[in-house]
Amino acid sequence: MADKHKILIVEDDKYIINFISMSLKKEDYDYVIAKTCGEANALFYANRPDMIILDLGLPDGDGIEIIKNVREISKIPIIVVSARQEEEEKIQALDLGADDYVTKPFNTVELQARVKSQLRRYMQLGGGETPKDKLVIGGIELDDKSKQVTLDGEVMPLTPTEYDILKLLMQNVGKVFSTKEIYRAVWKEDPMGAEGSVAVHIRHLREKIEINPSDPRYIKVIWGRGYKMEVQ
Ligand code: CA
Repeated sequence: MADKHKILIVEDDKYIINFISMSLKKEDYDYVIAKTCGEANALFYANRPDMIILDLGLPDGDGIEIIKNVREISKIPIIVVSARQEEEEKIQALDLGADDYVTKPFNTVELQARVKSQLRRYMQLGGGETPKDKLVIGGIELDDKSKQVTLDGEVMPLTPTEYDILKLLMQNVGKVFSTKEIYRAVWKEDPMGAEGSVAVHIRHLREKIEINPSDPRYIKVIWGRGYKMEVQ
């Protein structure tokens, strides 16, 4: 069986979230839900969805910013959900690379038809073949097939441990991991006091990928909690 298409729903209105997710469920799509721009960016990198259904008015910012971010690295279809009075925003969204829009209120059939037609076009264009084993965050590209990491186009020689830590953080951008969690995920065993080595590897990793390791852009320390890959 072919993989189900995964759709990222970005919407803060509970009623519309319910409505969209019910519509998608009927067509047997997988979906994940983000209620803010921050969550949307994190879930986009973590899940590599095949499509985004995007509300523009979000509590922590403008959905337009999400279109810009996604378009830097991906051609997946983006359907904007707009309110009638947001005509100008709608045009701006299409200009920036959204593929289609539905105007509130819309019905299930209309949404399903648009989703289906956008996914079909995307698959015909070979979109479904975009390598999911490639993670991109800011200037860092991690290719899990060749196990190669480049920073601003230059190959970074990472040790296997550094690579695994970086991959874990890039797959879960925005999520904070304690040293114990990193240890378990990378070494595949209980830390039993060996978490100190996590800090050492992260220091080495930072020396390689950060232009200024004392003011890191990518891997941030959250004091008392752990580390995270910053949403760029
Ligand atoms: Ca909204």
